[in-house]
Amino acid sequence: MKHTLRFCKGGVDIGFELPNLEFAGNAFVPTTAVVPLKQHCGEEARPVVTTGDFVKEGQVIARGPVPVHAPIPGKVTGMRRVSLPDGTMGEALVIHLAGAFDITGRKEADNDWKRITTQELSRILEDRGVVDTFEEPKPLAEALKLSRSSADPTLICRLFDQDPTAPIESRILAEYPQRVWNGIALLASAMRAGRVALIVEEGTPASPPPGIDLKDLFADIPVSFVISRRRYPSGSKTRIRRLLSEKLPELSLKAPLYLDPVTALSAYDAVVRNVPSISVLLLVLGNAITRPQLLRVKTGTLIGDVIDECGGFKTAPERILVNGLMRGTALYDLDTPVTRYTRSLYVMDRDSCPSYTVRDCVHCGSCLAVCPASLDPARTVFAIRRRDSGERILRSIAACEGCGCCSVVCPSRIPLHHEIAGGRRLLPEDLAHERY
Ligand code: SF4
Ligand code: SF4
Repeated sequence: MKHTLRFCKGGVDIGFELPNLEFAGNAFVPTTAVVPLKQHCGEEARPVVTTGDFVKEGQVIARGPVPVHAPIPGKVTGMRRVSLPDGTMGEALVIHLAGAFDITGRKEADNDWKRITTQELSRILEDRGVVDTFEEPKPLAEALKLSRSSADPTLICRLFDQDPTAPIESRILAEYPQRVWNGIALLASAMRAGRVALIVEEGTPASPPPGIDLKDLFADIPVSFVISRRRYPSGSKTRIRRLLSEKLPELSLKAPLYLDPVTALSAYDAVVRNVPSISVLLLVLGNAITRPQLLRVKTGTLIGDVIDECGGFKTAPERILVNGLMRGTALYDLDTPVTRYTRSLYVMDRDSCPSYTVRDCVHCGSCLAVCPASLDPARTVFAIRRRDSGERILRSIAACEGCGCCSVVCPSRIPLHHEIAGGRRLLPEDLAHERY
């Protein structure tokens, strides 16, 4: 089915196709899991197992801001340096399948989160390694702690797809409404939220779906629905913040917790079902894949094996993008493992994929015209390449929303938004968090 993505600036419309995707259930269990020590955008975790150790499914194998758990039971056969889905490199523990499963296939827990104290909820989310995938993946427990320390904590949940070309959030909402809504409510409780703002896209109901009782879930916490324009990137933190300042000016926006349905579902699984973050729901689509589908995949599964599970390549693949056409990262190695922040794979053939030969800037101004943050992407990138760390450039890097509009319209195929994202390492602490 054909869809159109309308940019909020520059009068640009991007056409893309989405198939009707089946939920295919669990993918096969890999015989070897390659588990990266970095499961978010921060530092790698420190291994607490060594080569030759036997581990249980769900056992902690590395500790850090986000603990890493064994997705399968088995023997640790070593460490490997691997490509990661965000385009960086990192160390990974290799586990060869052996022994019995302690979580998969067993009867699930059904804990009543309303009977769990806020401190205990936070501890569970930390122990289970839940990652907040709203924009840059980060430890949910840390984000919760930061929000809880503000005078009037606010929880903001976007109930639509950040990148409509990879509609994982809307699929999860449709597939698991009870779990997602309970996940939002338990996080509101864990952070002792004073207000909850739910952001919906124009044309969709500004109310809960049938069977969801707001009073039952949120008790006395005031919940507001706010309608966002259907213009990309209306789901970014910057756009949502601006929308809320206009529509709910009384709302406290000091360190709010930003949430998406993927994170709410992970929080529910950790608390209610007692499952650590050892699998993800992954959308596999694009016209070079034989069977586009949504499936649950163990972390540590190699992306090449996921593609085989989907029937392999239908035609020669030209490009594979992880996490959407707009914000995604190109994949160069099919031995890249699935991590907690891997949400979609877009497998494109030559016909649907423009030439990706990067050429020199022709100074056409297209990137400038579409940038929702009113930045000059070309100038910012050239300054980063010159290692210019003047205040103006640093402010531009900090203000970039990572939406990818500039890269998509660039006739010279310069990966502007990735180069600007790479420049974030130049930012001092205060500017790095200014956007949020
Ligand atoms: S510079 Fe940043 S905010 Fe502007 S279009 Fe590019 S990615 Fe989006
Ligand atoms: S869109 Fe590309 S070619 Fe045009 S000014 Fe920007 S960087 Fe240069």
